[in-house]
Amino acid sequence: MADALLIFKPDAAYRLAARAGIWRWLATEREWKLQSLEWFQPPASLIENHYDFLQGRPFFPWLVDFMTALPVVVGRVTASAQSLKQMRYELGETQIAKSRPGSLRERYGIFGGLNCLHLSDAPETGAAEVKRWSEFVQLDQVKVQLEVESDKLDHTYHLRSLATQVANGIHVELASKVIGELLAEESELIGDQLEALRRITLGALS
Ligand code: ADP
Ligand code: MG
Repeated sequence: MADALLIFKPDAAYRLAARAGIWRWLATEREWKLQSLEWFQPPASLIENHYDFLQGRPFFPWLVDFMTALPVVVGRVTASAQSLKQMRYELGETQIAKSRPGSLRERYGIFGGLNCLHLSDAPETGAAEVKRWSEFVQLDQVKVQLEVESDKLDHTYHLRSLATQVANGIHVELASKVIGELLAEESELIGDQLEALRRITLGALS
């Protein structure tokens, strides 16, 4: 059995319809078992180490901000190596524009690397990530139950369309404003936390 680290990134942790959709998939425990789940806001040092292979890439500062701006939902799953591979297939490709139709990322990811969910990509990386994160988070208890349905609307495809406009320099101001409004509608965030979700979303578009 392999250990894998799983993170509902902020775009999945707070966009409630997306979160419910991903949870419906995760909670089936079809070929895997959820061993832990809890809310945790990672420090920048942890994210810098977690994504050390991406240091120096132009999007790295955004990635650190994205992953540290708000508490996220972190957990551990166990699965066979083959099942972990299947989970990664169901998750879909890293960049939303390249994500396989019907995959979780194509369904709920907004744009670029704003892609909902982290899942270790192999038993070796899973073991290393679980070891690293276990110094910060207890990875042996399911402490949160997420809901399988949400009353909130799912604006994923509308957000993706607007994000594409912003990324291409088209109607930037207006599209950015509507993105903020849609995120407010999808989540229950207010104030600084809503502003943080808006910032990390728009930050993925430049
Ligand atoms: P994955 O999450 O599919 O395993 P990687 O481990 O390669 O992907 O990258 C880690 C995270 O960094 C991605 O999930 C994504 O959020 C971000 N990222 C990777 N490549 C890019 C990119 N070219 N542009 C924007 N963000 C990226
Ligand atoms: Mg990876």
